[in-house]
Amino acid sequence: SLTIGIVGLPNVGKSTLFNALTKNDVLAANYPFATIEPNVGVVGVPDPRLNQLAEIFGSQKILPATVDFVDIAGIVRGASEGEGLGNKFLANIRESDAICQVIRAFKDENVVHVDGKVSPKDDIETINTELILADLQTIEKVLPRLQRESRIKKDVVSQVKAIEEAQAILERGDTLFSAGIVQGTEKAEPLRELHLLTTKPFLYVFNVDEEELTDDAFKADQRALVAPAEAIFLNAKLESDLAELDDEEALELLQSVGQQDPGLATLAHVGFRTLGLQTYLTAGPKESRAWTIKQGATAPEAAGVIHTDFQKGFIKAEVISFADLIETGSVADARAAGKARMEGKEYVMQDGDVVEFRFNV
Ligand code: GDP
Repeated sequence: SLTIGIVGLPNVGKSTLFNALTKNDVLAANYPFATIEPNVGVVGVPDPRLNQLAEIFGSQKILPATVDFVDIAGIVRGASEGEGLGNKFLANIRESDAICQVIRAFKDENVVHVDGKVSPKDDIETINTELILADLQTIEKVLPRLQRESRIKKDVVSQVKAIEEAQAILERGDTLFSAGIVQGTEKAEPLRELHLLTTKPFLYVFNVDEEELTDDAFKADQRALVAPAEAIFLNAKLESDLAELDDEEALELLQSVGQQDPGLATLAHVGFRTLGLQTYLTAGPKESRAWTIKQGATAPEAAGVIHTDFQKGFIKAEVISFADLIETGSVADARAAGKARMEGKEYVMQDGDVVEFRFNV
């Protein structure tokens, strides 16, 4: 499955956040026999629709979609110089499908900042510089050879051009992601075999003091710093506390700082979206469940997430939109009202589709 690597300077609250994430680990609860790495937190993507489905279908269990966060320990500055920890750090980032930077905004004299002052802008620049330098090195290793090849092989010409463009962007100090060259999209295709770090989608977690959670001007400034990446604002210590409370107590604590939902819930949602994922829903007496698919997946591809045989033998999908199902109150009533659609192989799944697949075995 796809993973999001958590990175950041020392002392910004990465471990605190990661601990909060693992306290929320849904695997332990739902898949008791699953083995997970100690540096991976599997977090449920909260979806209140599942609770409503569970009520309608009398489901025994609710299984939300999940996002995997990987704690990428290690120093950041100097990582691109490629020694010891630096190499491991970069290799771990390379294996992630998105990069989540934790940025310190909280002020606390008892917690030392590695650079002596709290400055989100400088910290973001420090981390991005390492990633950019690593990408430039990767490019410098392959470009001379490809440039020579391109004089004989015409098909290499466009690849060389794309790599030279990427190099110019990086030399300006920009990440490829911020320039719209994103892993998995057509623009990044000529760069694919270089596995460049900054083509991965980025998201930013600002670890803020409680006052800043409701400071819209502050948040707008930070958002502008990181756009087009998304920004999440949370207090890592508070999240860690929340993860230990029952729902009612947690809500009370959240409301006391002007919040409705835990920051981790927002992080899970944003992370999921940043990975280019979406869900569709199934429901029955056993379980109400959200299944993870790529945005733009077709009905047979969606069926394949449940079982490869479902994809191979795909005939049709009976689809009811969640809104229609709630409005009519049951599958039978939705069918009677003409709200159940039979969709074929070409159908592109929509968010909130409640689905039953028909297939040959
Ligand atoms: P890491 O080095 O990035 O993993 O940072 P840690 O999670 O170990 O946190 C470093 C220190 O900052 C610890 O003493 C934490 O208790 C403290 N810390 C973490 N998050 C917050 C926060 O939101 N507010 C305050 N005041 N301290 C925090």
